[in-house]
Amino acid sequence: MNTEVHQKVTASHLKRNAYLYVRQSTMRQVVENTESTKRQYALRQRALALGWPEGHVVVIDSDLGQSGASAVDREGFQTLVAEVGMGRAGIVLGLEVSRLARNSADWHRLLEICALTSTLILDEDGIYDPAHFNDRLLLGLKGTMSEAELHVLRARLRGGLLNKARRGELRCRLPVGFVYDAAGHVVFDPDTQVQETVRLLFHTFERTGSLNATVKYFRREHLLYPTRVVAGAHKDDLVWAPLSLHRACTAVHNPWYAGAYVFGRARWHKQPNGGCRQERLPPDQWQVLIRDAHPAYISWQDYERYERQLRVSAKAIGFERHAGPPREGPALLQGHAVCGLCGSRMHVQYYVRKNVMTPNYVCVGRGRLFGDPQCQTIVGTGIDAAVGQLLVDAITPMALELALAVQQEMAARLDESDRLRHRQVERAQYDADAARQRYMRVDPANRLVADSLEADWNLKLRVLADAQNDYQQRRAADRLLVDEHERQRIVALASDFPAVWRDPNTPQRERKRMLALVIEDVTLIKQREITASVRFRGGAATTLTLPRPLTAQQQRATHDDVRQHIEGLLDQYTDAQVARILNERGMRTGAGEAFGAVSVQWVRHSAKIKSLKERLVGEGWLTVQQVSAKLGIKRTAINRHRVQGKLQARICSDGGQWLYWIPETKPPLSTEVRSRVSSTAGAAV
Ligand SMILES: [Zn+2]
Repeated sequence: MNTEVHQKVTASHLKRNAYLYVRQSTMRQVVENTESTKRQYALRQRALALGWPEGHVVVIDSDLGQSGASAVDREGFQTLVAEVGMGRAGIVLGLEVSRLARNSADWHRLLEICALTSTLILDEDGIYDPAHFNDRLLLGLKGTMSEAELHVLRARLRGGLLNKARRGELRCRLPVGFVYDAAGHVVFDPDTQVQETVRLLFHTFERTGSLNATVKYFRREHLLYPTRVVAGAHKDDLVWAPLSLHRACTAVHNPWYAGAYVFGRARWHKQPNGGCRQERLPPDQWQVLIRDAHPAYISWQDYERYERQLRVSAKAIGFERHAGPPREGPALLQGHAVCGLCGSRMHVQYYVRKNVMTPNYVCVGRGRLFGDPQCQTIVGTGIDAAVGQLLVDAITPMALELALAVQQEMAARLDESDRLRHRQVERAQYDADAARQRYMRVDPANRLVADSLEADWNLKLRVLADAQNDYQQRRAADRLLVDEHERQRIVALASDFPAVWRDPNTPQRERKRMLALVIEDVTLIKQREITASVRFRGGAATTLTLPRPLTAQQQRATHDDVRQHIEGLLDQYTDAQVARILNERGMRTGAGEAFGAVSVQWVRHSAKIKSLKERLVGEGWLTVQQVSAKLGIKRTAINRHRVQGKLQARICSDGGQWLYWIPETKPPLSTEVRSRVSSTAGAAV
């Protein structure tokens, strides 16, 4: 062996570095399995013995705590491959070299590179030269064995786990609110505060129908939610923290709370980058599902209903055109409005107009994804009113059918729960029968055993009697509920629909729920008119056409004939005078207010009507400046002439501005004025 070793190790190998690769796959091994780590470091002595100088042994141990299943995340292994590839390595040392890589592809790549760069490989068993066929064959086998070993190990573990899980005996990490008792059964957490808090979570979700609302309720009431620490020194300790949406979501989705033992709810897929992706499986693909395995916080029916509800909510948040759960806002079509231009679900935005919350249906369309501008925005008031009216018109002939359908569904649901309850009676019956048989089989002389079996039989009989009693009572109560009270209420509700709908005391949320029962969605398009295509559940459809609602500006606009009035009056009067006259004639602005000089000005500006001054100037009237320039006299003189009546003048604005009329055939002026006029005219020429 020794000679062989020396044959393999040559001077060219010794010139290069020796790389010692140290790895433990998990952090736990790093902490607990120190012996293996020591052995790995001891290989260093082998390298020194083979002749490598002290400074040329490089230890790569950055992969401690990393699994060998893939090389992607293992920085150290990649460094090793790089060093070997660049021909800097004379030898690679590892405890069991095949464990350098637990993945055949990685391992064979390393061997290939080692062969090319004539790098040796050393483990506890010996020294190999991958350039030699026999050595390479052996190393290849070692790698394959190592991979197979990993596979068999994993399969055995997995198989064992699965078998145990199939019997419902595999201990899983329990959701908060459950603990294992001494016998290993899942029971309610004896801490009543924990129990009550978990119950409150489900009650609140039942009441609000929304995870968000549940979380908000907990926050508003300053309620904390219990959590168990998953790992670390404080493992399994109870911690109280504010309820997060994630936690609430996980709890409501968790079938353990419905009393089911579940295993294998997710599947893991390997990613090209070496990572793993979790895929949640639908219930029919779960590996193990044992119902009624332990006490439950909610019934299985509730669980399934919540799942449906959450699916609907998830769709409402997503990009798809699906309905959302009704909320408090007044927008009737919330969650049901679809954009007719791009097909996205439309959002609701509220704004306050005259102290009333008014909805806008807004399509952000693909803008949300691609940063485009908004698709279309439609004022919701008119549409809501029209759809409401449509519903009131449509629901009357449908009333009876609706009521019957609802009743049928409720009856079906009751039958189902009735069947499940009867199972309990059957089980109690079976237990009692079994106890009886055990008692019958025992030797009567064996008093001690017979007594205890008899006691057991009695106990089982009592349980059976209780179960039967309970079943009968519930059944009677259910029948009563549907037969009388519920039925009447439903029928009354259906036939009184218009009244209920119009009743101002009916909360808008209820109105939206009623709408959701009947209407699938409403597709809106805003063009010259607004088109609302209403799709009823069951396939019927109808289209409503509505005028476009006026914009705020249009709503405030002055009525046409008032504007014509203003136009006529402005021939003679200033803005303030026009306002006074309009008010005397009982006319009002578009907003329903009395006119003032300012509002007349607004009307003039918006309708582009000329003011009195503009009209007069257009006719040839001159301002005082123009007169001064034309006649060459000072302002004071012009004023004097006006007061003396020598100049024809009139007021043209509310500010008291004068305009003057200087006819071409000049009116007789005083000699003084005339002489000045001629002199300035001469000077100008
Ligand atoms: Zn759109």
